[in-house]
Amino acid sequence: MAAALALRQSGARVTLLEQAPELTEVGAGLQISANGMAVLRALGVAGASSKAAQKSHGTILRDYRRGRVISTVEAPSAGSTYYYHRADLLDALVKAAVQAGVDIRLNARVTNVRKHPSDAEISMHDGTRIRAECVVAADGARSGIRPVLNGSEAARFTHQVAWRAIIPWAERSAAPMANLTMAPGRHVVTYPLRDQSLMNIVAIEERSDWTEEGWRLEGDVVDLRARFADFGGVTGDILARIEKVNIWALFLRPVAQKWQNGRVALLGDAAHPTLPFMAQGACLALEDAWILKRCFDEQSGVKRALEAYEAARQVRARRVVAAAAANARNFHLQGPARIAAQAALWLVGRRLAQRYNWVYDFDPTA
Ligand SMILES: Cc1cc2nc3c(=O)[nH]c(=O)nc-3n(C[C@H](O)[C@H](O)[C@H](O)COP(=O)(O)OP(=O)(O)OC[C@H]3O[C@@H](n4cnc5c(N)ncnc54)[C@H](O)[C@@H]3O)c2cc1C
Repeated sequence: MAAALALRQSGARVTLLEQAPELTEVGAGLQISANGMAVLRALGVAGASSKAAQKSHGTILRDYRRGRVISTVEAPSAGSTYYYHRADLLDALVKAAVQAGVDIRLNARVTNVRKHPSDAEISMHDGTRIRAECVVAADGARSGIRPVLNGSEAARFTHQVAWRAIIPWAERSAAPMANLTMAPGRHVVTYPLRDQSLMNIVAIEERSDWTEEGWRLEGDVVDLRARFADFGGVTGDILARIEKVNIWALFLRPVAQKWQNGRVALLGDAAHPTLPFMAQGACLALEDAWILKRCFDEQSGVKRALEAYEAARQVRARRVVAAAAANARNFHLQGPARIAAQAALWLVGRRLAQRYNWVYDFDPTA
């Protein structure tokens, strides 16, 4: 939606094809750091959704048993992260896109895209065909268009499972922060949403296999509590209050080798699915959207614009995806490595955010 809006603002005629019958998002939160916020501001939607966006004052790192504070990570120097309810952010983007004149078509499932010498042809599930000068496939981690450019690559189970829930919240803080609570093989992230009236919870655990059908299911709260039963303190209290939960198996493909073919380009998770352990998947997609628009503004012709887009994005996406994968190990350490890591975190303390300055300092709109 951000890419559609950005390209429309640059003067392109944009049609957005969405397979779903309506535009809804999962009931879950989303952290948007300074690099993503820069794009939302440039698109003119950050102000529109400022009531919904909760400014973060940093992250408290905790040990799981009693919730002991290991360290506090301040807001990055590049600017604050904001906590959004996904539905609120999508709503702001949709309103702006409709107002700008993006033609949004629902119940529109794309089944194939073919490149022709002077345009591309999109086949739809109902047999209709659409021709366009350029096709941007932002169809997510299970992208059906990615194989058109890269051949088929099976998604791999990462041995990580994410439980997600939102609960009502009444406690107010003058400086709301996220809690990141670490345990061997598991971690839990909590942060407030919608003016602190809700608490968002993401609980991650390592699993040897995934035998269920599909990637996303309704979860069993009793099972969740059993798997995180040894979490105490504030996080244990929050977990005990969950009444409804969803569960995601985290499957990944590597960052795509080929992002474009001169007519068709991949964007967002379709190009670079990532583990959520840097909270950067949607931020990277926002960056992609703005850089793609800029490439169209600066280059003449679709082919040159898409080549410039691919060249501008690949290295950064790979680096961020690798950092998120490293956090899967860092957050879940056991035994002596865990004790050493906690001591290091305590010593480094507030300066920890600086380690990731390269992620947040990048302003795609500059
Ligand atoms: C537990 C968890 C927590 C996360 N937390 C954060 C966070 O805090 N911050 C952050 O930045 N990121 C976070 N992410 C990552 C973020 O959710 C994704 O990176 C982001 O949603 C990717 O956006 P996208 O538009 O590329 O793909 P998607 O959001 O997957 O959207 C793809 C869209 O394409 C549509 N579609 C698919 N196939 C077709 C087709 N054939 N025809 C038509 N339409 C189609 C789908 O219906 C969907 O609407 C998290 C992810 C997880 C799993």
